Amino acid sequence: MSCLFCKIVEKKIPSKIVYEDERVLAFEDINPQAPIHILVIPKKHISTSLEIKSDDNELVGYMVQVANNIAKEKNIAERGFRLVMNCNRESGQTVFHIHLHLFGGRIMHWPPG
Ligand code: 5GP
Ligand code: ZN
Repeated sequence: MSCLFCKIVEKKIPSKIVYEDERVLAFEDINPQAPIHILVIPKKHISTSLEIKSDDNELVGYMVQVANNIAKEKNIAERGFRLVMNCNRESGQTVFHIHLHLFGGRIMHWPPG
């Protein structure tokens, strides 16, 4: 398995971990696009959002809860934050292991670029 984020889960590649439990890992993005830019990933390898199966519904909902909890801990929940999951090439997905981007700490623009 040559997946970058699986290697981060296995600690073969270091990351700045923000939260970890048996199902998910959250770590700081290496190239932050906002003052707070954290990636929340499942430890299970799922390549894109298109590969999320019914059995994964609880896991993906849990990823959102973890992101919400981190937003609260970082004091950006009330101000506002953005969750993004890119899918495939035109979205800009570059790592094919699903991840929620948690962006916060600045005003977000809409429509996104
Ligand atoms: P995508 O474009 O696939 O939605 O997002 C992939 C994200 O992973 C990018 O924001 C990129 O900066 C981040 N990233 C890529 N390689 C690494 C890495 O080795 N470590 C960390 N912490 N983030 C990474
Ligand atoms: Zn993976």
